[in-house]
Amino acid sequence: MDKMNRRRFLYSGVLFCCSAIPDLVSYPFSDGYARASVSDIRGEVFKGDAPEQIWKWSCEARYYTKILDDKTVCQLCPNKCVLSPGDRSICRVRVNSKGKLYSLVYGNPCAVNVDPIEKKPLFHYKPGTSAFSIATTGCNFRCLNCQNWEISQAKPHEVRYVELFPKQVVQEALSSRSLSIAYTYSEATVFYEYMMDTARLAKESGLSNLWISNGYINPEPLQELCEVLGAANVNLKAFSDEIYKKLNGGLLEPVLNTFKILHDHNVHFEMTNLVVPGYVDNDDMVKRMCGWILANLGPDYPLHFSRFTPKYKLDRLPPTPVSTITRFRNLAMKEGIHYVYVGNIPDHEGNHTFCHGCGKLLIERKGFFINKDGLDGEHCRYCKIRIPGVWI
Ligand code: SF4
Repeated sequence: MDKMNRRRFLYSGVLFCCSAIPDLVSYPFSDGYARASVSDIRGEVFKGDAPEQIWKWSCEARYYTKILDDKTVCQLCPNKCVLSPGDRSICRVRVNSKGKLYSLVYGNPCAVNVDPIEKKPLFHYKPGTSAFSIATTGCNFRCLNCQNWEISQAKPHEVRYVELFPKQVVQEALSSRSLSIAYTYSEATVFYEYMMDTARLAKESGLSNLWISNGYINPEPLQELCEVLGAANVNLKAFSDEIYKKLNGGLLEPVLNTFKILHDHNVHFEMTNLVVPGYVDNDDMVKRMCGWILANLGPDYPLHFSRFTPKYKLDRLPPTPVSTITRFRNLAMKEGIHYVYVGNIPDHEGNHTFCHGCGKLLIERKGFFINKDGLDGEHCRYCKIRIPGVWI
């Protein structure tokens, strides 16, 4: 691809051509809302689906072990895929070729954008700046409500991609005047090798690295990632193993462990809970979630309650009522979380930042317009208390 064409591609948003048709689950309607009829949607390995030849955008995986009969066990995420030669992983982007595990997404992102950092969402990290954002295909989850299923549930060769190796990503980020690189949209963990090499170069060049993730990663690779991270936004999709299994195809405990590791490594992070009607709309669950956050992480990490809109396999559900999101925000603040936000609801006071000390308005957000007159450096202009986050 020549330079002009490549640039046009880079700034043209999430691009893909995918022939997949949503495999709609059928729902019994017992309470006015749809519920999945399956109790565990965790993914399965694609037997015999690896390409015969490893292509140009491949590299040997960094976290895996070998067992008998040339089988490999991926150690990157809790799925721990066991692959025989010729198999493809649950996340669709790793294959066993002749007894070695390879990533097929090293330097071939299918989505490249320059985004406001608030879109991630990150509200307490360098507000008003831009994040150069990349994604490859693939995900280790199977969320019924995935917003980016066209790329997250696709194999690398099924979408349009551009060649962009780590050094080029950093160059593009710098020339776009972004202060950070975000690994985002699909699931950044599954393109770990590409992310890590890019993140190391980015850090050397003075850029921050942002990990936008479902948090489904094993401790060892996460600890290595923490060395180069500026900030993260991690989904806390529910506070229930049962919901994680039937809505997302994962488990809760590894995600909670991710939060503890980020906290222990002093990485700034924010949490996002997508409030899905009929699945994640229960006051008791929110109370238990907040109780765990306060006991294990403290009150200062921002929590975002995001409004669901019909999508993918849940396209027959209604959007979350605004009143539910407002109730959850009030509940979480009452429980003691200092900074609780709403997502996907314009003109709601939960888009703004209010000081946890005196309650005054610190940062006003209208769309992606930011007015941070209430901040004085890292402090509240009025009561002088330090506001948690990274502000410069
Ligand atoms: S990262 Fe992919 S290959 Fe590795 S265990 Fe997770 S789903 Fe399987």
